[in-house]
Amino acid sequence: HPQRDILLLLTARLLMRYVDYHNHTYLCEHATGMPEEYIRRALELGLAEIGFSDHAPLPEGLREGITMRPEQIETYIALIEEQREIYRDRIGIRIGFEVDYPLHDSFPASYLTDNRLDYLIGSCHFLEDWAFDHPDFQEEFHRRDIDGVYQQYYGILNGLIQTGHFQILGHLDLVKKFGHRSLRSFEDEISRLGRALSGGSLSVELNTAGLRKPVGEIYPSPRILEILFENNVPVTLGSDSHLPEEVGYEFSRAAEILRSCGYRSISGYQRKKRYDVPL
Ligand code: ZN
Ligand code: FE
Ligand code: FE
Ligand code: ZN
Repeated sequence: HPQRDILLLLTARLLMRYVDYHNHTYLCEHATGMPEEYIRRALELGLAEIGFSDHAPLPEGLREGITMRPEQIETYIALIEEQREIYRDRIGIRIGFEVDYPLHDSFPASYLTDNRLDYLIGSCHFLEDWAFDHPDFQEEFHRRDIDGVYQQYYGILNGLIQTGHFQILGHLDLVKKFGHRSLRSFEDEISRLGRALSGGSLSVELNTAGLRKPVGEIYPSPRILEILFENNVPVTLGSDSHLPEEVGYEFSRAAEILRSCGYRSISGYQRKKRYDVPL
């Protein structure tokens, strides 16, 4: 049935005209594959844009196997700029970083306002010096009060959004990664974040990596996305791929969830300017 095949092909294409703004590179030393392989995967899926957001340098002593070194920042930017040129007629390529808050002192401040960059994702992976999302340190959850961990984490996110440095808030409820659930809902804290972000250009990402982790759920949860929609907070999409095959991971499902929460568009960014991409 050639007609039906063409229709299917068109639908698949239309379904995936999204952006994937959370992709890593080999420079962080825990992701594999060249940027070009990630881009080819994005092309196969029919994504409108792929954005790279590799881990910005953490301080020495914390960054081994987690982020690039400061002297690799320019290598990274040049690498993505080169690919953007090669693929310019076929797919939009964006350059960003995933920056740790509050540990971003080792990321030179000039990069926070560098006009070559399209966006910065602000993420919290540390409570003081505890890398709470690192599989090697998850035992610490059993030594702490879980509600206290959530409280401290959401407090840090409040600080993160006040800085004004970031275009995207990364994996909003990452503390649930290994399945440690708080006893109370923290909806008050989420609503406070929602009000702070209301009507602005800072987007919360729907990050599908949670589906691949012990918690088995997107970041943030559908309930949190509902609260964000009620507060008129923009959203975008990220797979948090550390392998080329993870680009666009479960995006049809993610788009369905966003639509069921009321969203009809997601955010794109070019040189920190936000625009709507239809969902
Ligand atoms: Zn990573
Ligand atoms: Fe992260
Ligand atoms: Fe990431
Ligand atoms: Zn991430």
